[in-house]
Amino acid sequence: MADTLYHPESPDDLMPRELRAEQGREPAIQARGLRKTYKASNGQPAKEALKGIDLTIPQGSIFGLLGPNGAGKSTFINILAGLVVKTGGHASIWGFDIDVNPRQARGSIGVVPQELSIDPFFTPAEVMEMQAGLYGVPKSERRTMEILRAMGLEDKADAYARTLSGGMRRRLLVAKAMVHNPPVLVLDEPTAGVDVELRRQLWDYVKSLHAAGTTIVLTTHYLEEAQALCDQIAIIDKGAVIACEPTETLIGRLNEKKLILRPSSPVSELPAALSGYKSEINANGSISINYNPAEISTMDLIAKIGEAGIEIADLSTEEASLEDVFLHLTSHGEPG
Ligand code: ADP
Repeated sequence: MADTLYHPESPDDLMPRELRAEQGREPAIQARGLRKTYKASNGQPAKEALKGIDLTIPQGSIFGLLGPNGAGKSTFINILAGLVVKTGGHASIWGFDIDVNPRQARGSIGVVPQELSIDPFFTPAEVMEMQAGLYGVPKSERRTMEILRAMGLEDKADAYARTLSGGMRRRLLVAKAMVHNPPVLVLDEPTAGVDVELRRQLWDYVKSLHAAGTTIVLTTHYLEEAQALCDQIAIIDKGAVIACEPTETLIGRLNEKKLILRPSSPVSELPAALSGYKSEINANGSISINYNPAEISTMDLIAKIGEAGIEIADLSTEEASLEDVFLHLTSHGEPG
């Protein structure tokens, strides 16, 4: 079994999951200066997808990797899963360095991919058995029915996968990622294109896996999803981590509003009173100011502008979009 991913020689495998989370001192995932540049191909220029990611994901967490499309989330996950070869830096999973102990590292992580890729002519039980074979899980240690039951698929165990609903297929992918009993489960955009009811169901399953001791990493571009599930969130933008904080702290910071006002007469520069805020004069002459309502009320902000001698013809407020937040965080972060 030397070429398989399952590593029963690891003492962690013999230990109940609840204990694993407490026992280990190692983070579930650690990345240091992780880089990836995709080579130029088919007329496409080379792309620097990860620009030196430093990230520590603690054992036992539900960790959100949040970022817009193209930020580098899948690249990060795929490097951990052994599907993409990094260009530089280090990463370890459950204490196993992906270069030094690649099999153990891969054996410590289960990845639920974005797309619903399941062979329609196999039954869920067969899919599970094949995956277990791929990971070298000995027959005596396979838990096909146990996992299918946990995913609410027990009565579909022998049905052709093509007869499963979209939600069931997604749950089968989660089940498949769990065959080798990995302590870390990664869900890549698990609810993209999934309706609200199904999304809730999937969240419930994720929560129950977490309660049973699995460390969960979730990539998403939905703030709401990360907020609902994760105890800690890292924001990735353009291949770099621009924030990594407990969810509550981050949400507090994201709780920004934007005040947009139209002055009665055009202004050429922003008043000094606004220097502490992210504010700008827009192309149409309006002024937008990002502020945190927990720090200053809208009325006080308007008063400040009035004191600066600007007469306001019209105004409106907006919740800051995730994009605003990214821009805001990026402007405070490292250049480039
Ligand atoms: P995310 O998962 O956050 O949407 P990705 O990791 O998929 O981001 O992509 C990060 C960047 O790398 C994007 O600009 C994407 O176009 C590029 N990229 C991803 N995969 C490849 C690939 N196989 N070859 C070239 N560029 C890629």
